[in-house]
Amino acid sequence: MKGLFIIGQISKIKLSWLLTFYKLLSVIVMSSHEYFMRVALEEAKKGNASYGAVIVKDGEIVAAAHNTVGQDHDPSAHAEINAIRILTSKLKNHSLEGYQIYTTGEPCPMCAAACVWAGISEIIYGASIQDLVEVKQSQIHISCQEVIAQSFRNIRVTTGILRKECMELFQ
Ligand SMILES: [Zn+2]
Repeated sequence: MKGLFIIGQISKIKLSWLLTFYKLLSVIVMSSHEYFMRVALEEAKKGNASYGAVIVKDGEIVAAAHNTVGQDHDPSAHAEINAIRILTSKLKNHSLEGYQIYTTGEPCPMCAAACVWAGISEIIYGASIQDLVEVKQSQIHISCQEVIAQSFRNIRVTTGILRKECMELFQ
């Protein structure tokens, strides 16, 4: 009985360690999400429309871009498309498997589809399409999760990172 009690105590301690470790890990993950989103926010401020995106691989920023629709006379020059183009032409490879894209606004259906075609592994966004519609931003009201769900890929989506700051771009 005493042995069982000790094992019980040890596993309790291990469980609390594990929980602390998990909490610590999620703090680290969340703060790295916030770090990269802040870079995307700075990009957004340079845009013709207030959207910014960065692409990250192994904790390093490999591409950053903003919306250049007006200056390039190109309706497809959204921040995410620009970031994807910068990186794929640098890599000379159309596949972005293992890359994460951080974007201040949820990718529109065009950008979500580009993420699918590029094979991006994770999308992390701040403000949702619904949020953007509410502040009168022109949007096609289909979520990026819906686009992904109808596709042949499974892209992880993390939402609401620095959402308030991403929304402040439109005030
Ligand atoms: Zn877009």
